[in-house]
Amino acid sequence: MQLLSDRILNMATSATLAMAAKARALRGEGKDIIGLSLGEPDFNTPDFIKEAAIKAINDDYNSYTPVDGYVELKEAIITKFKRDNNLAYTLPQIVVSTGAKQALANIAGIMLNQGDEVILPCPYWVSYSDIVKLNDGVPVEVKTSIDTDFKMTPAQLEAAITPKTKMMWFSSPCNPSGSVYSKAELRALADVLVKHPNIYVVSDEIYEHINYGEGHASIAEFSDMYDRTITVNGVSKAFAMTGWRIGYIGAPEKIARACNKLQGQITSGANCIAQRAVITALNESPSRVQFMIDEFKVRRDLILGLLNDIEGFKSNTPEGAFYVFPDVSHFFGKTLRGTTINNATDFSLYLLEEALVATVTGEAFGNPNCIRISYAASQEQIIEAIKRIKGAIS
Ligand code: PMP
Ligand code: GLU
Repeated sequence: MQLLSDRILNMATSATLAMAAKARALRGEGKDIIGLSLGEPDFNTPDFIKEAAIKAINDDYNSYTPVDGYVELKEAIITKFKRDNNLAYTLPQIVVSTGAKQALANIAGIMLNQGDEVILPCPYWVSYSDIVKLNDGVPVEVKTSIDTDFKMTPAQLEAAITPKTKMMWFSSPCNPSGSVYSKAELRALADVLVKHPNIYVVSDEIYEHINYGEGHASIAEFSDMYDRTITVNGVSKAFAMTGWRIGYIGAPEKIARACNKLQGQITSGANCIAQRAVITALNESPSRVQFMIDEFKVRRDLILGLLNDIEGFKSNTPEGAFYVFPDVSHFFGKTLRGTTINNATDFSLYLLEEALVATVTGEAFGNPNCIRISYAASQEQIIEAIKRIKGAIS
C-alpha cells in the first residue's frame, strides 16, 4: 500500500518557504546569499509587545486557552475592527488561530465540498491554491496583468462565476503584486457579487497597515457584503510577529462557529503567551508601528527605482505590502552564462545561483512571467542585491 496519501502527494510545497529553506542551506555552506524571498519583516517585534509576553509568562498564563481565543483578545480584535475598518463584529463572530494561514485553512475546511470552485484573482498568495485543493475545492484562476495593476476587473469576475462558484479569495494589499483595491474598485466587484448571493468572499487584509496610498478599504464595509464576507487578518506583518503565529477572522456567526469546531479537533486554541501579547498589540494605536511602514515605503521607492533601471524588468508600482513583482519574460528563451532561461522558475534559480539573491518564482503565485522580490530587507541589502542581479544578467 502507498505510504503517503494522494492528498499530500498532490500538494505543492510552499514555494516561499522552500526558497527560504534553500537560501538557508546555501548560507550554511558558506555562500553569501541575500534573502529576498520570504515575506517577513526584518524588524524586531516592538518592545511594548515583548514586555506583554514576558508579563504573561510571569503571570502564569500557561493553560489551554478557549479554542477560539481569550475573550480579552477577541474584544481587542472587535475594537480593532471597529477602529481601523469600520466593521462591527460581536464575540461569537471572532476566531483566533495559529496565524492567518490556519484561519484560511479553517475556512476552506468548513466551507468547501468536492468540486466547489474558488475564484482566485492572479497573482494570488502562494498558499491559497493548495489550501483550496487540499480541501477538495477547485481553484479558478483569473489572470490579470500589469496593465490593470494586477487587479481583477468586474467583467473578469463575472465571467469566472459558474453555478459551482462557492467563494472568491483575494488579498489587498496583495501579496505578491502589492496592488491595493480602492473602495470604488471593491464596490464594483461587490456589484457583481450581489447578483450571485450564494458566493462568499475571503478578504485577506493581513497587509492592511502596510499601505502607502490612500488608505485601506474592507469589502465587508458594504452592508450588502457584510454577511457574506470573512475578513482575515493577523499580526505577522504590521507588528513584525511572524513567528508568534497569531491570526484571526471576523465572520458570519455560523462560519466562525464551524471554524471553532474544526480547530477544536486539530490544534485547540493558539499559543497562550502570544495571545496575551497580541491583546497589547491590538489595543495600541497603529501609529506605534508607523516607523516600520515609513521605512518600507523608502525601500519600495529605492528598489523600484533600481529595478526600473534594468532592461527587461517591468514592474507596477506596488501601493502596499513589501513586494515587487516584476515581469521578467524578456529573458525567456535567452541563454545567460550558459544557462537557458525558459521561465520564471529558471530565472529565479539563476539569480540564486549566479547573483546569490533569493527571490520566488511567479509561477507559485499563478503568474509565470514574473518573480517576487521581497524588500523587507535593509537598504544596503537591497542595493547590493540589485547590483548583483544587474551583474548576473549583463
Ligand atoms: N495571507 C497573506 C496574503 C500572506 O502573505 C501571509 C504570509 N504570512 C499569510 C496570509 C499568512 O500569515 P500568517 O500565517 O503568518 O499570519
Ligand atoms: N507569507 C509570507 C510569504 O509570502 C511568509 C511565507 C509563507 O507563509 O508562505 O513569503
